[in-house]
Amino acid sequence: MDFKLTEEQRHLVDMVDSLAEKEFRPLASRWDENEEFPWPNVKKLAELGLLGLSIPEEYGGAGRGILDTVLVVEHIAQHCFNTAGILTLHCGTCSRAINHFGSEELKKRFLPVMASGERLAAYAQTEPNAGSDVGNLKTRAHLDGDYYIINGSKIFISNAHEAHIFVVMARFDDASGTRGVGAIVVERDTPGFSVSKKDHKLGFKGTSIAEVVFEDARVPKRNILVEAGNFGKMMQAFNAERCGNAALSLGVAQGAFNEALRYSEERIQFGKPISAFQGIRWMLADMAVQIEAGRLLLYRAATNAEHELPNLLETAMAKTFCNEMAIAVTNQSLQIHGGYGYMREYPIERMYRDVRFPALGGGTVQIQKNLIAAELLKGNWTHY
Ligand SMILES: Cc1cc2nc3c(=O)[nH]c(=O)nc-3n(C[C@H](O)[C@H](O)[C@H](O)COP(=O)(O)OP(=O)(O)OC[C@H]3O[C@@H](n4cnc5c(N)ncnc54)[C@H](O)[C@@H]3O)c2cc1C
Repeated sequence: MDFKLTEEQRHLVDMVDSLAEKEFRPLASRWDENEEFPWPNVKKLAELGLLGLSIPEEYGGAGRGILDTVLVVEHIAQHCFNTAGILTLHCGTCSRAINHFGSEELKKRFLPVMASGERLAAYAQTEPNAGSDVGNLKTRAHLDGDYYIINGSKIFISNAHEAHIFVVMARFDDASGTRGVGAIVVERDTPGFSVSKKDHKLGFKGTSIAEVVFEDARVPKRNILVEAGNFGKMMQAFNAERCGNAALSLGVAQGAFNEALRYSEERIQFGKPISAFQGIRWMLADMAVQIEAGRLLLYRAATNAEHELPNLLETAMAKTFCNEMAIAVTNQSLQIHGGYGYMREYPIERMYRDVRFPALGGGTVQIQKNLIAAELLKGNWTHY
């Protein structure tokens, strides 16, 4: 068992750390306060090849693995959650799905423009009456010659206003539950496809979130990604997405800890820095232990997923732990900041709001716990 990153991974982390700290951190509050999409950051990610991190080199990407994507997302999320969230949706979810399931033609058409940042991607699954209950999806795609005609609507779609490529889950045949569900790529300029006005949310405010609507939207048949009847396989592949989601939580937790540590050494009360008080020290110690435990769970899950070892249980455990841990750690960090932590001037106020998203997206914490329990009851828990 080796807990060291490779030299190449160390270089990647150092490069991303320096980028995020010097360029992303100073503007992180701007995207949040103005509810503005961080285009300069996205352009920078594209220039450095990070938007195409998980895309194979033959399609213009960097061809890096799942753990590398996790490392990049984690280190950006420490400083700018919005930028890290956009990256994980584009790279961890959408490009991975197209690469995993798409035909050669589809990969050639979409992956290079996604790697270069010319086209951003969004993932459209949730519907008004089908959030966790994916088997209840109503958006319907039926074949008409060389086109699928799609009708229905999707809500809570992140990056909807900026994206050009939508990976859409829909019902392709009349089979009930998840058996009829498949996936297709829809381009923004498709006739019959529209994006509604932005919704407003608690955190993750630098990204748009909106409903997307399909009214007899005509999508070429060749855009099919996953045929109905392959839901299980599709969900296995989306495990990697959960690693990206967990990396967002882990990154915010580390960022919140760093803020707390710094503040506790600067803030003087009773004639001493508050870091001198045992009550604060124990909070810092507890936070660090929790963060490190999450990191180990996540790196193991990502490594298993990358090597195609069993990872359903590991990924669900890592996501659950990191999501809940990050909410708790961010809360503790705010407490260490006292009243100042509640104010906009300090980044912890933003982190405290942003960190609620990962526990809801990518399969809620409760859905992960259902998955974990199901795996345990099947005897699928490998001890190391
Ligand atoms: C900021 C943000 C960004 C998002 N971005 C996207 C996106 O880009 N694309 C997209 O498709 N969706 C996106 N979503 C939607 C997200 O994936 C859903 O909110 C999530 O799947 C939960 O669905 P729901 O909101 O309908 O809650 P519900 O499924 O109605 O759940 C409500 C509560 O019940 C619990 N629950 C439900 N079923 C069970 C069960 N069987 N056992 C135990 N508890 C259960 C849930 O955990 C939750 O606590 C986003 C959401 C947010 C908040």
